[in-house]
Amino acid sequence: MTDLYQTKDTEERDSSMAVFKLDNVEDLYEIGNVLGSGHFGQVREVRERATGTVWAGKFLKLKKGAGSRLGLERKSVEKEVEILQSLQHQNIMALKDVFESRAEVVLIIELIKGGELFDFIAEKENLTETEAIEFMKQILEGVNYMHQKNVAHFDLKPENIMLSDKHAPNPDIKIIDFGMAHRFIQGEEYKSLGGTPQYIAPEIINYEPLNTAADMWSIGVITYILLSGLSPFQGETDEETLRNIVAMNYEFEPYYFSQTSNMAKDFIQKLLVKNQSERMTAEECLIHPWIKPLNRTQIAKRNRSSINMKNFKKFNARRKWKMSFNMVSACNRFCRLQLLCKVRGPEEQELQYTWTCGVVTDVGVATALVRGRESERSNSR
Ligand code: AMP
Repeated sequence: MTDLYQTKDTEERDSSMAVFKLDNVEDLYEIGNVLGSGHFGQVREVRERATGTVWAGKFLKLKKGAGSRLGLERKSVEKEVEILQSLQHQNIMALKDVFESRAEVVLIIELIKGGELFDFIAEKENLTETEAIEFMKQILEGVNYMHQKNVAHFDLKPENIMLSDKHAPNPDIKIIDFGMAHRFIQGEEYKSLGGTPQYIAPEIINYEPLNTAADMWSIGVITYILLSGLSPFQGETDEETLRNIVAMNYEFEPYYFSQTSNMAKDFIQKLLVKNQSERMTAEECLIHPWIKPLNRTQIAKRNRSSINMKNFKKFNARRKWKMSFNMVSACNRFCRLQLLCKVRGPEEQELQYTWTCGVVTDVGVATALVRGRESERSNSR
């Protein structure tokens, strides 16, 4: 039995409709080990009983009722599914099937075995810019494809850039987690406060209308980190990080960028641009001389330049530590919240399950910052 749904604006969207199967997923798939955890559930290895093929299953908990703070709205799962269904590209995680029960939705997705790109790089002794660019090019191809389809990811960060198989001679990049993605309809004004502080564009913090350019900012930040092991706007606290982004407070510290080519710095500078319309697009990035050199001199410069591996390894170790720490804190908060919800009853569930795994959801720090600014403004009037 299947349950079909249509979006309100079907004519303007792809003709495809998401199909949520009502079969019990366990009748068709054997559920295996946990591969990772996201904001609202787990990703597990699953084996298709009929064929023996191994996939990944993304188990998303649904909100129990209108007042519930735990779990996802069915509408936002539908949005993620619809977007994934409309994207078929070698560098974007593929969706195979969707199952629904009362409490959760299970997305059957392509199993990505190679882990995160940053972990793969951190295991290396050294990496030239030319080698790093091979990965950047694939990220840009995936992003360019989704942007051509008017889809913005809105959560591009190292955790969401994986490798198909790290033992393959030329592993494919796979962009994952479309939980915050949005497909723009012509003329639509879309604002969102979601994202991860280190990687979000100033227009998100300022709660301005967004477009696909926000992803290009994140690519600028990812490239900066990849080359230097430094995070360009990182402050002591998330609020300080957000303030640094809005103030465009970044520089190329010579100590960390001594091995970096000027072309790479130019590439980053054209992405970390406050004005969205002046920021390089994915299409333009793919023909920037750092990615597509025009002559032998440019090729030689890329070969001579390398990433700051010593500092990159340090950055990655800190990042992994922070991810584990955030995961433990999120679990603790989740358990406390569940306990409180049991004691208080649904009508009193006013606790905000805001921070999960280091991600600001729609009511996070960014809102606090913007609200702080708004009150500053009204006080000064
Ligand atoms: P997500 O909720 O999509 O961010 O996924 C949470 C974590 O699960 C990721 O950080 C990955 O470690 C892992 N993961 C997600 N999708 C896949 C996949 N298709 N194959 C393997 N692992 C995955």
